[in-house]
Amino acid sequence: MAPAAHVSRLMAILGVAVLAHAGMEAAGEPAVRSAPSRPGAASPALSTATTSKLKGRKLGTLEYVNLADVAAELGLKFRWVERRHKAVLTGPSIQAEIEADTRDVTINGLRVFLGDPALDADGRLYVSRVDYERCLTPRLRPGHGVAPRSSPKVIVLDPGHGGRDNGTSVNEKIYALDVARRARKILVAAGYQVVLTRDEDQFLELKERALIANTANADLFLSIHFNALPKDSKTSGIEVFTFAPRYQRSANAWSPRMKDDTEDFASPVNQFDHWSSALAQAVHGRLIRELKAIDRGAKLAHWGVLRPLQCPGILVECGFLTSEAEARKIATPSYRQELAEGLAAGLRQYAGLLKGP
Ligand SMILES: [Zn+2]
Repeated sequence: MAPAAHVSRLMAILGVAVLAHAGMEAAGEPAVRSAPSRPGAASPALSTATTSKLKGRKLGTLEYVNLADVAAELGLKFRWVERRHKAVLTGPSIQAEIEADTRDVTINGLRVFLGDPALDADGRLYVSRVDYERCLTPRLRPGHGVAPRSSPKVIVLDPGHGGRDNGTSVNEKIYALDVARRARKILVAAGYQVVLTRDEDQFLELKERALIANTANADLFLSIHFNALPKDSKTSGIEVFTFAPRYQRSANAWSPRMKDDTEDFASPVNQFDHWSSALAQAVHGRLIRELKAIDRGAKLAHWGVLRPLQCPGILVECGFLTSEAEARKIATPSYRQELAEGLAAGLRQYAGLLKGP
């Protein structure tokens, strides 16, 4: 299911791995439209339902907020590293580096991609309001500005692909199930109720996977995949995806040459953008630190498997099966056990951010 070779090359240039295999939905999938846009409507970002009080300003077509104001709102210090270009936000156990004209930021040592580039305007550094609320706040001050959420009890693990859908290669569906089973064992021992969307080599539609989570009243959802880049045996590393917030593009549509896939409607999972981002940050950190893998970043995508969720959810690409070195590691049960332990540790770290029952 890999896209045409030229698209793969472009994606490689963009630092985006092959997204198509992991559940990008087909065009024309019916979507929940809560507020259709119309000509002359207010700036989309202005109409997002949030409680943020920060004053914004329009830059281009989007609403932006001053990063220095973000720092003050979140109780962090703002400091320029390069005047008018790069700044650092610091606080107890927090360090975030944000640079003008790029989405690529660093939060506590982790590579995170904003949905829109940060901008310099009038000597100040700005980030889009959507990024401030749905990417930065949940990572820098989880729980700030949103309703509290109770600690998770039911965790749904989703081994990608299965049955007639092999994924990038037949190994993807096999390894994804193996890692999910290993993670289940660890999480059950820790007292969680764990549901696997599939516990055998079985084909499931993307929506069915989310439906299993919704039916189980899942508190969080984690989809497990392995990555591939055709004709590239070197690229390796881990990527953690959340569903793109309303008005933002997928990582594979960031290039001006790629079709803009911005969605101006909210999908069910968008209600949980804050907690999905907090979950992504926790899992991302544990995987990168404990596996010492290359960090390919936390990214956004319109994954069909996440869209219908009624709980926070993420999709993890646990490594490249096309990388000779990484595929060799992934083929060993001990590395897959480490992956499962990293995922479980991340989920438990996220649980620690939430209030007890
Ligand atoms: Zn996959």
